[in-house]
Amino acid sequence: MTSAGKRAEALVAELGIKCPQDLDVEAIAFDSGVEVVYEAMTGCEASLVGYLDRAVATINPSDVRGRERFSVAHELGHWHLHRGRSFQCRVDDPSANLSSDRALEKEADNFAAHLLLPGPLFKPVIAQLGQPSFQQLTKVAGEFETSIMATALRLANIDTLPVIVACYTRDGKRWSLPAADIPKRWFLKDKLDEDTFTYDFLNSGKESRYLGKQSADAWFENDDAEKYEVLEQCIGSAGGTALVLLYLQPDMLDAGFDWNVGNRRYNERGSYVPRRGASRR
Ligand SMILES: [Zn+2]
Repeated sequence: MTSAGKRAEALVAELGIKCPQDLDVEAIAFDSGVEVVYEAMTGCEASLVGYLDRAVATINPSDVRGRERFSVAHELGHWHLHRGRSFQCRVDDPSANLSSDRALEKEADNFAAHLLLPGPLFKPVIAQLGQPSFQQLTKVAGEFETSIMATALRLANIDTLPVIVACYTRDGKRWSLPAADIPKRWFLKDKLDEDTFTYDFLNSGKESRYLGKQSADAWFENDDAEKYEVLEQCIGSAGGTALVLLYLQPDMLDAGFDWNVGNRRYNERGSYVPRRGASRR
């Protein structure tokens, strides 16, 4: 776990919070010396201005309570981790920082994800669900008052299931977050395959109501992907994108290293490997 995540979970533990309903983000902020103000802003979603041991977090109001809560928790992360600085944050969508290299923003997002979905409370809920579908994740998000996006990202982050959370548009992959234990050999396709349910959804609006079985070949570049299956489901997300859940079947976790995929130049032991097509060894 990142140190930002640890700090957030330590704070939850210190406050003696034992259930999701007690994760009152304004109360936690107040306890940390941060006053939360909701006020329409232009040019940013949330800001933090601190002086000595007090700060004001200003949050752009949103119809989605989960997004407001994430913004508060994000600013609280800046307060706990980056004290002495002021912040104007453009983003209340945790996926937007995923592909950026703005280290402090990522840290604040990490803090927020662990504060609102702390492992000791979130993991037991997920464990009861097996491999949760989006319908089930939506209920979990309701219980924790988080957005479905933040909840899905945290699902991959806790690394208890062989899951990849990804975002695709009709033009292809925006980003993906695999659970840490997923072998690096599995390369997601950049282009959305016509055989995927996600392709159907983005092109004809046909939603998949359940996790559906799918050939791994539809999702992964690997030559041997056709031998494997995944479970796939997607839902519509902001800006005409689809948020995708992929569960890898257990045998995919045992598949050996694949020399022959992507633009791999080094093998798992760090030795140079010629590109695909070039003669090997
Ligand atoms: Zn920020």
